[in-house]
Amino acid sequence: MKENAHVTFYESVLSSFDKAAALTDLPKGMLAQIRECNSIYQMRFPVKIGNTYEVIEAYRVQHSQHRNPTKGGIRFSHLVGQEEVMALATLMTFKCALVDVPFGGAKGGVKISPRNYTPDQLEKITRRYTTELIRKNFIGPGLDVPAPDYGTGPREMAWILDTYNTFKVGDIDGLACVTGKPITQGGIRGRTEATGRGVYYGLRELLLQKDEMSELGLSPGISGKRLVIQGLGNVGSYTGTISQEEGGAIIVGVSEMEGTIYNKDGIDIVKLMRFRRDTGSIMNFPGTTALANREDWVSLDCDILVPAALESQIHQGNAHSIKAKIIAEAANGPVTSKAEEILLEMGVVILPDMYLNAGGVTVSYFEWLKNLSHMRFGRMEKRFNQNTYSSLVDLVAKTTGKVIGEKERNLIARGADEIDLVRSGLEETMISSFYQIKDVKTKRKKIKDYRVAAFITALDKIASDYTNMGIFP
Ligand code: GLU
Repeated sequence: MKENAHVTFYESVLSSFDKAAALTDLPKGMLAQIRECNSIYQMRFPVKIGNTYEVIEAYRVQHSQHRNPTKGGIRFSHLVGQEEVMALATLMTFKCALVDVPFGGAKGGVKISPRNYTPDQLEKITRRYTTELIRKNFIGPGLDVPAPDYGTGPREMAWILDTYNTFKVGDIDGLACVTGKPITQGGIRGRTEATGRGVYYGLRELLLQKDEMSELGLSPGISGKRLVIQGLGNVGSYTGTISQEEGGAIIVGVSEMEGTIYNKDGIDIVKLMRFRRDTGSIMNFPGTTALANREDWVSLDCDILVPAALESQIHQGNAHSIKAKIIAEAANGPVTSKAEEILLEMGVVILPDMYLNAGGVTVSYFEWLKNLSHMRFGRMEKRFNQNTYSSLVDLVAKTTGKVIGEKERNLIARGADEIDLVRSGLEETMISSFYQIKDVKTKRKKIKDYRVAAFITALDKIASDYTNMGIFP
């Protein structure tokens, strides 16, 4: 039996929080403050669609202002509801703290199904939503900074920025009011792929843990591991592509709205995405078999399940059928707390959303910094480094008497571009955060799983912020 997705999602988040909180000795009052959503803005506004007015239901929830601005994406989906946005905003607080992104958590949602509207209509809705946020001081470079989420992307962020700038003429830091923008509108290279790339780095790190892999009966390393991906949106498509191209993983199954396909020898994800663009569907992709029931992606034979769509996809009704040894939570909240109990009992390792999909907000932080510094990363040092490395190559060639070819020279004697720096910052963040969580998990004997360990790692940081502020000393 499938639980009610929305209520369960928020309850799941709170139940993980409570489990983690019980294992700390933080003051009760402080824990109570950290647990709650601080500000909830529920709005209704009319938008003329064709000949009629539609009343649009939308939200922005700021979970915690222990750091400012607050940060989190905006979701466009017909499933949006207040509790869902509260759950997502709560997760953002812990996600940011965990990966040392100095923001509080927030999230927005507009209850519409984007596919039912034309781009012009979506623009109207997005601009009106932004106006409502401006009216209530729920957006601004130092207040609350939205970003893409399910159903939104760079295009919507450009509309948000333009609306903000229209109302806040002369705000020199206006570009930093939203992240995930197109490069031409103050965006940063590497933001679009960031969540998927972060999922890859995080998963790769877990797979390098020899002790844990041997307990799971897996060989160490991502190469050759069999993945099943649910959802080929922004996160799923980049996770799949990068895991396949850079990691040598094998994508054996893909699930989308139109159905689920499987090939035990692997599906070329790059070709599959081209196929889907051309035909509008993943079904009938050469060499694959279609499952009779789309939802059976959960029980496919594989090493790693990557839910990269919406919350509550793995629930107590299907958790028992899982054959994978690892669940990589690319989506937010894909496993309900009831399902988690079953899976932990079964010995399945879950890499939690709050850690694994934090790459998006990490690169959003880089974009925000870029906007506030009014300069592209790498602009100052690129040429200097290139010249220095070039002299070094010359020196090595001269002292060894060896000829260094053009190809090798180009590899060594180059300064970092923005994309190199963004990827490097992201990789460092994902690796160091992994070991922070693992450290907590290993040292505190009562902690058995990565989610509770991640919550505690984040909680400790938030608590020390409150303490440093002189609140709850
Ligand atoms: N929506 C993304 C998330 O859930 C990104 C948020 C951001 O970049 O602010 O983490």
